[in-house]
Amino acid sequence: MSRRLLDDQDALSAFRARLLAWYRQNKRQTSWRDSGNPYHVWISEVMLQQTRVDQMAPYFERFIRAFPTLQSLAAASEDQVLKVWEGLGYYARARNMHEAAKRMAFELGGRIPDTYQGLIELPGVGQYTAAAISSIAFDRDHPVLDGNVTRVLCRLLRIEEEPTRAQVKARLIAAGEALLARGEAGDFNQAMMELGARVCTPQSPFCPTCPVGGWCRARAELDDPASLPRKVSRKQKPHYQVAAGLIRKGDELLIAQRPAEGMLGGLWEFPGGKQEPGESLPECLVREIREELGIEIEVGARLTSVDHAYSHFSITLHAFAARYVCGTPEALGCAAWRWIAPEALDDFALPRADRLIVEFMRECAQQMELFGEKK
Ligand code: SF4
Repeated sequence: MSRRLLDDQDALSAFRARLLAWYRQNKRQTSWRDSGNPYHVWISEVMLQQTRVDQMAPYFERFIRAFPTLQSLAAASEDQVLKVWEGLGYYARARNMHEAAKRMAFELGGRIPDTYQGLIELPGVGQYTAAAISSIAFDRDHPVLDGNVTRVLCRLLRIEEEPTRAQVKARLIAAGEALLARGEAGDFNQAMMELGARVCTPQSPFCPTCPVGGWCRARAELDDPASLPRKVSRKQKPHYQVAAGLIRKGDELLIAQRPAEGMLGGLWEFPGGKQEPGESLPECLVREIREELGIEIEVGARLTSVDHAYSHFSITLHAFAARYVCGTPEALGCAAWRWIAPEALDDFALPRADRLIVEFMRECAQQMELFGEKK
């Protein structure tokens, strides 16, 4: 039965009916998809591009409270959007979403496009997101291909090649098209994603309880269905040492805004940068502050160090107390700079590693006498 699935109309109909019945009985309630509100579907799908459902849920609720409509999001400043997004990471998603909101509000009649083509032309919307929004919010017939669906398809069809290869991806998209329950694409896509998330899991698929196990080649033919999909051989990520300064002038601290383009673009941080070979961390900090802001500082004690992993590398961020000595700050290697009262740090969107430093320093504030509110 399994070999003929894609070519057998009866088998396809039975597969769709079984999967949809399982989904409708077992689906988890989600405020973003169940509402049927295209704005909610769009926001949630952008968040889900890099974040798991359970992690994303509280951020979604917070975001919708802050920006309940497309128009309110379009009217917000980028700083406000980044601040509400803070903690979700991959900040390009937030900047693109904000750009897309402005385009929809001011150029596209204040509505979210209801077609795949209209959606994919928006900033930050790729094939997966356009297919997910068009099918879930508007029941358009487009199959989604995210990590969960890719895993299910590789196992169902016993696809042994790495799914990241272009040829294999094309085969997966064609399989998704063939399997899709037309007219019920929203539920069908969610059913495939839910199957991957809850039954056909990465390490331990629950094959005996799988609603479509009767059509699955990996289950029928392999000792270990979890051996699919084939893993891409990954290079080890580089690790960098980074120094940052909590630079004081009187009661104020200096913060700098990262350039809009690039990683963590538009976020504010304690200035500093990557250690070069042969230099100590304090030397690194003095050099970075000179290059980034054109001022001289005196570096004091190391306050704390935090580890943080990004998608392609990881860092240890070492935070140093530092004292402003001379010079007028200029935005040489950053977008902007400000002297602020330490309490005002909460008004700025900070990267996760810098936020950890703030939390650590607040815990230690009485001893360090650094943060004004606890003096
Ligand atoms: S039978 Fe097992 S491997 Fe096949 S789709 Fe179901 S859970 Fe996945």
